[in-house]
Amino acid sequence: MSEKDCIFCRIIRGEQPADFTHRGERIVAFKDIRPSAPVHILIVPRKHIRSINDLAGEDESLIAEMILLAPDLAREAGIASSGYKLLFNVEKGGGQFVFHLHLHLFGGWQRK
Ligand code: 5GP
Ligand code: ZN
Repeated sequence: MSEKDCIFCRIIRGEQPADFTHRGERIVAFKDIRPSAPVHILIVPRKHIRSINDLAGEDESLIAEMILLAPDLAREAGIASSGYKLLFNVEKGGGQFVFHLHLHLFGGWQRK
């Protein structure tokens, strides 16, 4: 899929609305349109990368930045201390439907 047709590229370019929780120089985050948890945020690089399989050596700091952003967003959402999950789905067999790299942040369950 080209960047022109990519749904997350369209969101990043402002051509399609999204509920943003972060707009950084290299990374954005927005709420998942069909949340699978009370808090479900997608952490997305502005650079169009298909999946984890397509990362290059030069993307090392980008992927680190994505992961390091997660606790900040979790804190803002009030779920850092209660806990959360981070997930990369990789390719169709791994449950990936949108082929623009993204890190899922899930949390907010009432677990005792
Ligand atoms: P994947 O299965 O590819 O790892 O996850 C893609 C996620 O993107 C899904 O959880 C899906 O609900 C979400 N998603 C798909 N299209 C849109 C959209 O247009 N806007 C937003 N905010 N989320 C989307
Ligand atoms: Zn894209």
